[in-house]
Amino acid sequence: MQAIRLDAIGQLSVGEVAKPVPGSGELLVRVESCGICGTDRHILHGEFPSTPPVTLGHEFSGIVEAVGPDTSGFSVGMRVTCDPNISCGLCSQCRSGRVNLCERLQAIGIHRDGGFADYAILPVTQAFELPLDLDPLHGAFCEPLACCLHGVDMAKIETGASVVVLGGGVIGLLVVQLARLAGATRVVLVTRQAEKRALAERLGATATLDPGAGEPIAAICGPDGLLPGGADVVFECAGVAETVRQSPRMAKSGGTVVILGVMPQGETVAIEPFDLLFRELKFIGSFINPFTHRRAADLIASGAIDVAPLISRVVGLDEGAQSIRHPARPGEIRVLVVPQSTAP
Ligand code: NAP
Repeated sequence: MQAIRLDAIGQLSVGEVAKPVPGSGELLVRVESCGICGTDRHILHGEFPSTPPVTLGHEFSGIVEAVGPDTSGFSVGMRVTCDPNISCGLCSQCRSGRVNLCERLQAIGIHRDGGFADYAILPVTQAFELPLDLDPLHGAFCEPLACCLHGVDMAKIETGASVVVLGGGVIGLLVVQLARLAGATRVVLVTRQAEKRALAERLGATATLDPGAGEPIAAICGPDGLLPGGADVVFECAGVAETVRQSPRMAKSGGTVVILGVMPQGETVAIEPFDLLFRELKFIGSFINPFTHRRAADLIASGAIDVAPLISRVVGLDEGAQSIRHPARPGEIRVLVVPQSTAP
């Protein structure tokens, strides 16, 4: 079978690898779709820890083709989505219920072979069923949605709350939808590209803002702004210094800031502790998807979250590797890899 391999940091190839055989407690999955995430680019450039040689791809779903020995709960022909994050279950964090902070956390598609391949091995502990009548491309969104769900859970959005989302990539556009579902009545998305702002308004943003068009903090929080005094909750979903700096200043006193965006390790941003203290802001980091994958799969299966407009391109493995090697194209939200040789 064919796979996109990270041979070493900086070296990506598409080539023939042996079709894997599922062991005890494992499923062999024929991959139907696998999303290219910014993390794949970071992994290629050594900016995110991985263990090459490895097949990349951590946002995938597919059809169970074979079930390993002594494996229950799943059968051939089922559609499943992969929760890539494998916790040990034994360390003190796992035993306290914080599996995303596991001391021995491993991820499928990062530390062990993933979904940019015709077939992938999926431990049953990481598999969640999806309906067979779902568009096979949509399963690839369960993983990013599960990460957003964790952030939205942590924000504790109250019905009628106001929300600002900084960054109109796939994460920001999913957070906009989740915030509306959670009961927010005013959701402002801030992003530079006009197409993304238009899409956000289709997906539930009540207003959008181009941060280059003026002073975004005043445009949101000022007396004549979109949310005078600031938002109850601000989600940072761009992962850049400018938006991290802006995020506490866009929250109202007593409000909450959730950092979902990933900035390069070691990079710092100036935050005014007096402001956090004096205005009692909650400043929260949200990392991956502890116990949220089932709900994410249900939200996608039910159509409650609209993922179709987030698909920018569908490509094969070769073009997928090219896409990982280069930055996202302007306007691009999510590129999905469909391994051609598995197409039924
Ligand atoms: P993405 O496609 O790069 O989206 C981020 C968007 O932010 C960009 O599309 C860009 O759109 C916008 N942006 C950049 N600078 C901006 C600025 N100054 N003001 C406003 N918007 C700005 O990435 P993504 O896939 O949506 O992921 C977003 C972040 O979440 C990344 O850092 C990713 O690594 C992280 N992430 C975190 C988790 C977690 O568990 N916490 C999980 C998955 C991903 P415009 O060009 O339109 O401005």
